Amino acid sequence: MSPTQHRASGRPTEHKARKRFGQNFLVDERLIHRIVRSIAPRADDNLIEIGPGKGAITGLLLEHCETLNVIELDRDLIPILLAQFAKYTEFNIHQTDALKFDFATLWRDQAPLRIVGNLPYNISTPLIFHLLSYQEKVQDMHFMLQKEVVQRLAAVPGDKNYGRLSIMAQYYCSVENLFEVPPESFQPAPKVDSAIVRLTPHTVLPHPVHHLSKLENLVRTAFSQRRKTLRNSLKALEVNFDDNNFTIDLTKRAENLSLLDYTTLCNEIWPAE
Ligand code: SAM
Repeated sequence: MSPTQHRASGRPTEHKARKRFGQNFLVDERLIHRIVRSIAPRADDNLIEIGPGKGAITGLLLEHCETLNVIELDRDLIPILLAQFAKYTEFNIHQTDALKFDFATLWRDQAPLRIVGNLPYNISTPLIFHLLSYQEKVQDMHFMLQKEVVQRLAAVPGDKNYGRLSIMAQYYCSVENLFEVPPESFQPAPKVDSAIVRLTPHTVLPHPVHHLSKLENLVRTAFSQRRKTLRNSLKALEVNFDDNNFTIDLTKRAENLSLLDYTTLCNEIWPAE
């Protein structure tokens, strides 16, 4: 057992929600049941919860699936979790930063990861990018996020929320915006609306590129000046676009290209070696 992994029993302590850990605890029982119904956990799932907090979702997950790994940064929450759930022998707490956690260590043959969590909103975008890098090992992910982040994940070309997060998430996953959640469902109530999203990694990538880091760079560069035409915004890439060897219309703006347009352009600029 690693030094940050806990299984022993502990004594609950008082806990005050901390802003710096993005702590907004779920208090709406009906909503918690709705979230867990959407996840539909099964007894033999390889479930992982990010940010269990005081266990609002954790308890119901454990009723369906006794093997549960949770990753919680706030060490003051560990005794509270242990006091409630120590009777579950397959309940493991990893007291660490999910942004640095190697999710591949939890992968088991025949049991891809099912990752869930009411995520701390202050780190949700970098955390999603971190998790996308494990997509081959993941069955699906269900997250509570700020509503705008869910809209960005699910956005299509032309939407005001369409951008780098939409394209990279949809490169790897199908994205379903499941339902919205009002601030009153939390204690303390956040200042923003929230929503539940389901991300299901594609078993076969629909639009693969030869060089993933090039796609990431292409999309980042295009959206760094989203109002300009691609011919202008992509100057920083130092690619010769003058000979018009590209099937994509470079007079378009970043926000008007589909995922397929981006992957096509990427493969035309940087073909397989
Ligand atoms: N799941 C609980 C609930 O729904 O009531 C708590 C959700 S709260 C929005 C986010 C949780 O993530 C908190 O428990 C917080 O301590 C934890 N957290 C914050 N930053 C984290 C990080 N970098 N890694 C792991 N957990 C983190």
